[in-house]
Amino acid sequence: MRDGAKVVSRSRSSTGEQPNESPIGSKPAPGLYLVSTPIGNLDDISLRALKLLRAADLIACEDTRVTGKLLSLLGIAGSPLTPYHEHNADRARPALLARLRQGAVVALVSDAGTPLLSDPGYRLVAACLAEGLAVTSLPGASAALTALQLSGLPCDRFLFAGFLPAKTGARRNTLTELAAVPASLVFYESPRRLAATLAEMDALLGAREAAVARELTKLYEEVRRGSLAELAAHYAGSGPPKGEVVLVVGPPGEAPPTSPEEVDTQLRRALAELSPRDAAATVAAATGLPRRQVYARAVALAKGGKA
Ligand code: SAM
Repeated sequence: MRDGAKVVSRSRSSTGEQPNESPIGSKPAPGLYLVSTPIGNLDDISLRALKLLRAADLIACEDTRVTGKLLSLLGIAGSPLTPYHEHNADRARPALLARLRQGAVVALVSDAGTPLLSDPGYRLVAACLAEGLAVTSLPGASAALTALQLSGLPCDRFLFAGFLPAKTGARRNTLTELAAVPASLVFYESPRRLAATLAEMDALLGAREAAVARELTKLYEEVRRGSLAELAAHYAGSGPPKGEVVLVVGPPGEAPPTSPEEVDTQLRRALAELSPRDAAATVAAATGLPRRQVYARAVALAKGGKA
């Protein structure tokens, strides 16, 4: 390690205990345990997670009713639950840290899947690491990774974008930023907004392959693949899908070479929402064409020119 470099991750507490060492039947070492739970199929709970949830002194969770129901389905009774979610995280964190300092075994779970993905868990982890409190992870199901695996899109490089902002302007800015990222993109999205989001992505990310993964690991698991435009048309026609969805969008430049007419179509769509500079950046990223060339065309179209 470089001199002065900060230790940003440790699974060993300052006392040298390793929180994931627990001989069978013994109490786990004190510390914070990030415990993944199923995203639908109960059988996806791991043996380690079952043992830890039974032994925990305290389970911090997003919604005590959701986790209480899960624990009862798993046959785990008696572990005390405490809420830790977006709206109470700053208030609830000091009490959790106090318990950890006293040597408690604290589990952190989300409503489903891997904690910290789109929840305030990382702030608790950061606070523990800053104090030298032990943190470790019990990995398991994640809707983001499961959707990526099933998408048929490149998995060698991806960006997890979580939920897009709800406000139109902020959502468009985020999509414009993401347009240039040379990787597959993974989003959580509400079924209600899915069709509109797909259409917006088609305008701002350009023509790309995508997949909508629904009800993963459940009885009606379904993955629908196609271009953003095809998927937008499908869901506009069918109405919002039932259940939960993850949206995976392929990287830019996967589409076949774009004709000048198609470039103009994409630019016109983007210019309806964006400045010529941002529209050009978006279309250049989507088509793989040089940004300067696309910008010149965007300026011409913005001025109403046909040249
Ligand atoms: N922590 C979780 C994980 O590991 O993926 C995700 C929690 S996030 C707050 C909830 C979102 O995950 C949902 O809105 C949906 O986009 C996605 N999700 C969760 N379970 C899913 C499932 N079984 N099928 C499809 N998407 C799912």
